[in-house]
Amino acid sequence: MINEKMEQLGKVRSVIRELFEYGNKRKAEIGADKVFDFSLGNPSVPAPACVNETIKALTEEMSSLQLHGYTSAQGDASVRKAIADYLNKEHGESFTADSIYMTVGAAASLTISLNAIVCAGDEVIAFAPFFPEYRVFSEGAGAKFVPLAPTEDLQIDGDSFAKAINENTKAVIVNSPNNPSGVVLTEESIKILCDVLKTKSEEYGHPIYLITDEPYRELVYDGVKVPFVTKYYDNCLVCYSFSKSLSIPGERIGYIAVCPRMDRERDVYAAVCGAGRALGYVCAPSMFQHVAARCLGQTADVSVYKKNRDLLYSALSSYGYKCIKPDGAFYLFLKTPEDDAKIFSEKAKKKELLLVPSDSFGCPGYVRISYCVDTEQIEKALPAFKELAEEYGL
Ligand code: PLP
Repeated sequence: MINEKMEQLGKVRSVIRELFEYGNKRKAEIGADKVFDFSLGNPSVPAPACVNETIKALTEEMSSLQLHGYTSAQGDASVRKAIADYLNKEHGESFTADSIYMTVGAAASLTISLNAIVCAGDEVIAFAPFFPEYRVFSEGAGAKFVPLAPTEDLQIDGDSFAKAINENTKAVIVNSPNNPSGVVLTEESIKILCDVLKTKSEEYGHPIYLITDEPYRELVYDGVKVPFVTKYYDNCLVCYSFSKSLSIPGERIGYIAVCPRMDRERDVYAAVCGAGRALGYVCAPSMFQHVAARCLGQTADVSVYKKNRDLLYSALSSYGYKCIKPDGAFYLFLKTPEDDAKIFSEKAKKKELLLVPSDSFGCPGYVRISYCVDTEQIEKALPAFKELAEEYGL
């Protein structure tokens, strides 16, 4: 007997991965330049120069044993201090090195945070559209996952959020800029969210934690601001990753920042350390902890994503598609001209357009277009999008 839940999880590929694998097969059959693969959120802009420069400098400055050895479980103290100082400078906060826990990316930040706070019978809420792994991570931590239906503008509706909360609600996960829609939550939305959390925490007599998933924080356009949530709510765990901002998703580096004013803050931080231990992470990669610390404030060239966003959004809108204009991340959410996004995605596939149907994001009737690709791919794909629009009579 083995764990059937895990067996199932391993056997059922995510819709995104399935489409990506299909794309690879199709590229081998007809040539990579003839397949318009918009399936994966793998950064297409190289890491900023500071990443390779820092790797080189570190190999010269630090001994091999130091650079490649274990760090303390929560991360190197100087790295955690650098991150705390940076967040304090950027957001007027008061983090210390002991507020920060280094992780292997946002996925680990989320699983560790959830495992740190979830008890048997707890519920975790997420707003649709959401990153599909939230369900896996929440259920893996032993919680019931509670998805909330999307609002028209994908911002937060306080009434429906309040109605979804009960005495078992332990946490809510928010993701801004959002995967799959590119929507950035406004300050008004964050205030509504936090007011409900404060009221409901008081009503039920225990904290309802806010977990913010922020791998796209720096990937925003036209000066849009992403509110930093600890300013609005204390019981907050910020889950950050350098995967997208520095274009290093394969290096697996991120952190959790525990709000210094959280209830039982030292105990929650200890639970974070305990969850990291129980999950067997040991410590985040040593070299990339140092790279991240020295590259704070640097980002990959966001102007490339903005150029792609502008090109895609204006072309698709001119063909008659209804799209949500993304303010950040590198995803565009297109309303499918028929209710069933899977059928639309299949029709798109026949034109070699690989678009992810939105059902697994908890928001049927859309496809996600990952525009972290060469601009040339978008230019070449536009005629296929146009033909498809014409077939639907848009
Ligand atoms: N959260 C969201 C919303 C994401 O889009 C991703 C990756 O695409 C992750 C978390 C996981 O990020 P990481 O690669 O840093 O673990």
